Amino acid sequence: MINRRQFVSAATVAGAFTRIPDLLAAPEKYDLIVKGGRVIDPSRNLDAIRDVAIANGRIAAIGTNLSAAATEMLDAGGKLVVPGLIDIHTHATRVKDGPALCLADGVTGLIDAGTRGADHIDESVAVAKSAPQPCRVLINIGRAGILPEGDTMDISHADVGAAREAIGRNRDIIAGVKARLSRDVAGANDFEVLRRSQEVASSFNLPVMIHMGQTVSPLPKLLALLKRGDIVTHMFAPPPNSIIDDNGQILPEVKAARRRGVQFDLGNGRTGHLRWDMAERVLKAGFLPDTFSTDWTPEGRTAQVIDFPNVISKFLILGMSLDQVVACATGNASRAFPVFRNRGMLRVGAPADIAVLELREGTFEFVDNYENKRTGRQRLFPSATVLAGKPVATRG
Ligand SMILES: [Zn+2]
Repeated sequence: MINRRQFVSAATVAGAFTRIPDLLAAPEKYDLIVKGGRVIDPSRNLDAIRDVAIANGRIAAIGTNLSAAATEMLDAGGKLVVPGLIDIHTHATRVKDGPALCLADGVTGLIDAGTRGADHIDESVAVAKSAPQPCRVLINIGRAGILPEGDTMDISHADVGAAREAIGRNRDIIAGVKARLSRDVAGANDFEVLRRSQEVASSFNLPVMIHMGQTVSPLPKLLALLKRGDIVTHMFAPPPNSIIDDNGQILPEVKAARRRGVQFDLGNGRTGHLRWDMAERVLKAGFLPDTFSTDWTPEGRTAQVIDFPNVISKFLILGMSLDQVVACATGNASRAFPVFRNRGMLRVGAPADIAVLELREGTFEFVDNYENKRTGRQRLFPSATVLAGKPVATRG
């Protein structure tokens, strides 16, 4: 029952003030107050110093100087308080503690994108089930998973029956199908591999994520097979078969795919996916990413990827606003998979998943997948993570 209601005006939207209820019910005591941080939630145009109060694992109030008692207090003064980060392309289930390592980076929701296929999917499913945060898995259409010689270079590995059977046994954890299509992974089989992936996905009404870039088939031929809700990862991959032509024009088929609801994702990774000049040209053409993702692996923690906040920071250098980069790692990502519904935002009643980040000023070096270095004046660092209302990782 609502016994007190208070409205706090939020930031302006196109010049008009919107009023958002920030306090639905004020309990006598909160479990946690995240105090005095710069709270950013692009999904509601909020960017202001606020306190975030949490009760029973959910956000109970967002306001200034919340004075009610709290069992715990997390000082976020001088820091950013953003929705828990959602990373839709990782390989976190490769190791048992992968999800927990990501949690310490501020990642409160994640997808393992195709580490394993039907033959070994149970290992990924087990790690996902034991993850502290919501974690789902995309099954690699190649039944043996990621192979050094190429997942589906032998087309018999793209086994529709085996994939369907694996999904059927794990409907709660398998959230889609991953098709890795570059020439060293699928060779000339790319189109057929994607066709089979859709055959599998359509039986369960699931999305397909394709790994684009350096494919044998032209990108438009592959995009023609993608439906609403499907995801293209490694969107900044250099030629052959990138999303932009030599004259700096985004391919018309790429624009058409976006119009029909196909999502375009970063997929940072370490080889062949991100080159500064490509990213610059694509952003200059006005084609912003829908989502950011790390393509996280244990090895990536010490090179190029480091952590999700570091990956996000690269796009501050490239000229995106803080609001835009936060949206790509939170609200936008939450819409990609049903498991993240109501997450990726800071709203009263939503699950209290929060990333406290530090935006440090200084001189920071960033590297693309081709050893090219860029220096930036700002870098985001993970500071603390709140999962379901509980502070689970603090780095100070
Ligand atoms: Zn990957």
